[in-house]
Amino acid sequence: GPTIGVLALQGDVREHLAILETLGARGAPVRTSEELDGVDGLIIPGGESTTMWRLARSFGLLEPLRKHIHDGLPAYGSCAGMIMLADRLEEAAPGQETIGGLDITVRRNAFGRQVDSFEAELDFPVLGEPPMRAVFIRAPWVEGVGERVEVLARVAGRATGRGVAHAPDSEAVTGRIVAVRAGRLLATSFHPELTADARIHAHFLEIVKEA
Ligand code: GLN
Repeated sequence: GPTIGVLALQGDVREHLAILETLGARGAPVRTSEELDGVDGLIIPGGESTTMWRLARSFGLLEPLRKHIHDGLPAYGSCAGMIMLADRLEEAAPGQETIGGLDITVRRNAFGRQVDSFEAELDFPVLGEPPMRAVFIRAPWVEGVGERVEVLARVAGRATGRGVAHAPDSEAVTGRIVAVRAGRLLATSFHPELTADARIHAHFLEIVKEA
């Protein structure tokens, strides 16, 4: 079977590796461009995108990551990983760069500040029933998508707040795009690696197998 790399510079790497294991997939941490050369798909975890960008740059990984993704390496980014895959950012830190590849504009920390997290049930048609229980932590949302990008899920209310600045069912938040796919690139604003639901990872494995 395929080897799924998890970019292991920073963030919740172990959680992604653990989910891959429950699916019977081979996961491998990626810290060098040699390790990147050996994978069939790449997961970019949640964490802090500015730190991930700085580490990727100083490890000499930014250009190799760009090249592999440009050449068609399937990739899935959760939260900070979504930010790393975005072509355009709102609220970027000064000088902050991404890997890019996904024709989307992502707004960092869109739902609120550091303490803000919430959970919501999302209708996620490509995954079927039941709805996805999604954990958002200082999450970005997708502000805009290019024409070849498929919107997979939006916030639709029904959220349980945990220190939420804007109620997730408020007008500003309802309808916000939180999951997208374009070709071999998949991204979610939330963290499926923090729940027992492995359907997003299974979906990504399908994308890798098709590629
Ligand atoms: N706010 C973080 C960032 O900008 C993302 C948060 C997360 O990955 N949970 O990178």
